[in-house]
Amino acid sequence: MKKIFVTRLIPDRGLALLKKQGYEVVVNPEDRVLRREELIMFLEGKNYDAVLCLLTDKIDKDIFAAAGSQVKIFANYAVGFDNIDLAAARERNVLITNTPDVLNETVAEHTFALMLAIAHRIAEADQFMRDGKYKGWGPMLLLGADVSHSTLGIVGLGRIGALVAKHAVKGFDMRVLYYDVKRNEDFEKEFNAEFRPNLDDLLHEADFVSIHVPLLPSTKHLMNADTLAKMKKTAYLINTSRGPVIDEHALEQALEKGIIGGAAIDVFENEPLMDLGFKNLDKIIVTPHIASATEETRQKMGEVAARNIIAALEGQTPPNLVVMK
Ligand code: NAD
Repeated sequence: MKKIFVTRLIPDRGLALLKKQGYEVVVNPEDRVLRREELIMFLEGKNYDAVLCLLTDKIDKDIFAAAGSQVKIFANYAVGFDNIDLAAARERNVLITNTPDVLNETVAEHTFALMLAIAHRIAEADQFMRDGKYKGWGPMLLLGADVSHSTLGIVGLGRIGALVAKHAVKGFDMRVLYYDVKRNEDFEKEFNAEFRPNLDDLLHEADFVSIHVPLLPSTKHLMNADTLAKMKKTAYLINTSRGPVIDEHALEQALEKGIIGGAAIDVFENEPLMDLGFKNLDKIIVTPHIASATEETRQKMGEVAARNIIAALEGQTPPNLVVMK
């Protein structure tokens, strides 16, 4: 019987698919991230055929070594795979897969939720009400900014970035600029979007800057003291990609000094920690890496991860392969 290790409990549909296939499914009994040495202990000598892992698991050569030569695939329960050492996987002939597409809508919605919330000062207003400060309607009370008809700068026009851009154009009549290493002329024509080959040009013009690049050496600290200073003083920065794409300390400084108008972020440089300075700033909204967190999407991510494992163990090419054998 083939054996699968799941590093943390996920919604049931993916696990049910694996069991229906006749596999033995062993789930980490603790509802928390396993420490590195615990993960090694869970894997060592167990001869699992596959591991379903999470973005909170750092998967490197020691983890592959602990899993042993029986393991064919590590199926990541995320679209990003910056937690996995791909070179080490290739060296050991381990397949790596991710869960793209099924979370696009949910992450795009969360991006808009953040954009609307920071522009309309929703978190501040909610706190204001809870604190009993509301004494009646006022013409100057908690004035925000309009999203409609403003300019959105998308950094990374991939699956999620393109959907955010589409909602911006269709739902809010926004002007869309984008910066990417690849140009997409079909998208430009369909949505009247404008390519900016230079990030600075996008930053100069955008009222909202939304980050959708993967975390790579080339995107680490893409937003830093220099690039933040290129943004409009009134502009808002939204990040639902990966925390290290923004230099968090530089962002705190930029907010404190009024270099940008505000920020709304779902991901942090050293999760689960966040820059302590954020706590005292009204100009930032923070959510705990929940951009894909709806019941349905988390179920679908489990199903995709399970299908990748089943394909790999039944001798087929997994649909969402990141590393080829
Ligand atoms: P994708 O691969 O479809 O799109 C990424 C885009 O970024 C591509 O168009 C690519 O060409 C571009 N890009 C890559 N390197 C670049 C660079 N150096 N400069 C400019 N552009 C560059 O990915 P996706 O499915 O849209 O997901 C984007 C990222 O969002 C994921 O990698 C993941 O890290 C993150 N994500 C976060 C959550 C969350 O819960 N907050 C959920 C899903 C995805």
